[in-house]
Amino acid sequence: MRRLLVLGAGTAGTMVANRLRRELAPAEWQLTVVDRDDDHQYQPGYLFLPFGEYQPDQLTRPRHSLLAAGIELEIGEIDRVDAAANVVILASGRSLPYDYLVIATGVAPRPDLTPGMLGNQWRRSIFDFYTADGACALADALAGFDGGRLVVHIADLPIKCPVAPLEFTFLADAYFRERQLRDQVELVYVTPLSAAFTKPIAAARLGSMLDERKVLLESDFVIERIDPDAKSLISYDEREIPFDLLVTVPLNLGAEYVARSGLGDESNLVPVDKHTLLSRQHRNIFAVGDANNIPTSKAGSVAHFSVEVFVDNFLQYIEGKPMTGSFDGHANCFIEAGNGKGLLIDFNYDTEPLPGRYPVPGIGPFGLLAETRANHLGKLAFRWIYWNVLLPGRPIPLPARMSMAGKKTQN
Ligand SMILES: Cc1cc2nc3c(=O)[nH]c(=O)nc-3n(C[C@H](O)[C@H](O)[C@H](O)COP(=O)(O)OP(=O)(O)OC[C@H]3O[C@@H](n4cnc5c(N)ncnc54)[C@H](O)[C@@H]3O)c2cc1C
Repeated sequence: MRRLLVLGAGTAGTMVANRLRRELAPAEWQLTVVDRDDDHQYQPGYLFLPFGEYQPDQLTRPRHSLLAAGIELEIGEIDRVDAAANVVILASGRSLPYDYLVIATGVAPRPDLTPGMLGNQWRRSIFDFYTADGACALADALAGFDGGRLVVHIADLPIKCPVAPLEFTFLADAYFRERQLRDQVELVYVTPLSAAFTKPIAAARLGSMLDERKVLLESDFVIERIDPDAKSLISYDEREIPFDLLVTVPLNLGAEYVARSGLGDESNLVPVDKHTLLSRQHRNIFAVGDANNIPTSKAGSVAHFSVEVFVDNFLQYIEGKPMTGSFDGHANCFIEAGNGKGLLIDFNYDTEPLPGRYPVPGIGPFGLLAETRANHLGKLAFRWIYWNVLLPGRPIPLPARMSMAGKKTQN
């Protein structure tokens, strides 16, 4: 028996296991997935929890129910990988040997790494929405907030779904308008970037959406610490941003065991070849989803498109053949704009988000970098697609490779 071990049963690990279980003969391959609990969360839904649009139980399913027959789910905390011995050791002391290892343990918010964040204001006037607990606590805080300075903040990049803090800001604007409190709320968006977003065309579009909503943009803000008593963010260049309510996206780091195992970079991300996801250090280790260091968004859509390429490559690789697939960094993300509208961006390593229509040129139904109702409905439909199509690894009629069809290039 050959042994494939997948670390992490989140978005990427679940897709990898379900896709490969169909391809690898059960008599020849044992397939095991490890996760610390049996609770799979639909993380894109966290955005809506603070506004009461979803309840937490709508976002959770047991992991084992999402894994195909013939996949073993091992529940336990991963302590380390001994890559020289081809074995993973769990915190319980249990050892799991492997022939091939797929690391899919994602990234997690680390509020402990910014001085003052976890001080006396944590979950009193300082909140995050990148965890289910944080998003639920924030729902109560928003409901009780009837005026003052609401600061939305990104500690550093990369973070998962880098548009999520912008979406939160747009939704907060709409939420306070709906409650007829918008005039009493000063909205501030604080980012370490020099604009609202990374790429010029999207940054200009999203920046003008902040302007239209009268949101103050504080750019190039590299946080040094939070002063919880003064309720203030302080940057390395000694700028201070006071808040009444802070919604922060803490540093996002890969899992600690990745660092302990000598497999990570300074953010505990696994360095891989950006086209094949093969570890740069070990010939039998791949890293998929947020856990790797590829230069594209950390998003479920990237996990999906890259796993499509990875699965075909892996089947070639274990036969000793060259991997012929090449992942191009394809990402797409719906961006909630508030008032029942949204935008869509579609890009890859080489092409920044451009305006146009997607996926059918001239028709859509989705508008690229345009605020439309169809995009909002697409975002809401994504939850159903996630549980029923993406995670089971059913085919989706969208190519893994980004297409220029329907995109308007600017001269
Ligand atoms: C607020 C928010 C909004 C988002 N919106 C979107 C969106 O609109 N569109 C989109 O495409 N993406 C979105 N994302 C991003 C998307 O959820 C992630 O990119 C995706 O889940 C990454 O999948 P993954 O498998 O790499 O990691 P995860 O799904 O996070 O899975 C990692 C798994 O590893 C397990 N694990 C980690 N460490 C250990 C350990 N030591 N021992 C045992 N198990 C461990 C965890 O329990 C987890 O189950 C959003 C994310 C957030 C937080």
